[in-house]
Amino acid sequence: MDYSILRKRMVEEQLIPRGIQNKKLLDAFYKVERHRFVPEDLKETVYGDFPVPIGDGQTISQPYIVALMTKCLDLTGEEKVLEIGTGSGYQAAILAELAKEVCSIERFPGLAKRAEAILIELGYKNIKLKCADGTLGWEEEAPFDRIIITAAAPRLPLPMTEQLKEGGKIAVPLGEGFSQVLTLFQKKNNRLESTPVCGCVFVPLIGKYGYRE
Ligand code: SAM
Repeated sequence: MDYSILRKRMVEEQLIPRGIQNKKLLDAFYKVERHRFVPEDLKETVYGDFPVPIGDGQTISQPYIVALMTKCLDLTGEEKVLEIGTGSGYQAAILAELAKEVCSIERFPGLAKRAEAILIELGYKNIKLKCADGTLGWEEEAPFDRIIITAAAPRLPLPMTEQLKEGGKIAVPLGEGFSQVLTLFQKKNNRLESTPVCGCVFVPLIGKYGYRE
């Protein structure tokens, strides 16, 4: 199977028609081999226009949602980004193509290990991973220029507000079940301004500042 054909189709049929136009962003989606982040039997399915299970009841997000959240972060290549919810590692790889440094946290050890293995295999040197409750952020690595939370939170976890730099941005799905809203926060004059982006459906963010298990 020539996966580059599936990748091209994914970009041209799912991303560009929905308004993802930035060349560097599209190049990252052409380049990163999405099928490498999932088990053998899902390699073709993973280029579809939907999320796909990756084990532990979790999913690799739909390509368009990965693109939209990345677009919201407005990356120039100079940023240090915190990702909560490494999952398969795919979003981390996309971020690593577009930012200076990525720190990513996953709560399931099995997923964290598998993501680490593939990201090393693909040669990423600007990604740091840890297995922990990401709702606490990553104090030793803070502050961050951007934060992306790839699981749905009841509200913005408090440590994020402290670990975000002035002028920084956070993309996070807020809410429960089918009534979640992808929300973009920006820190201005030490205050967070929020803008709703669109409705979305994510697995829950579980942790001290997220939902209970
Ligand atoms: N970004 C991922 C990717 O590219 O495959 C998809 C993320 S999946 C939709 C959400 C992930 O968030 C799951 O892997 C889940 O285990 C993780 N998660 C949920 N709560 C978490 C927490 N408190 N800390 C770290 N990870 C968490």
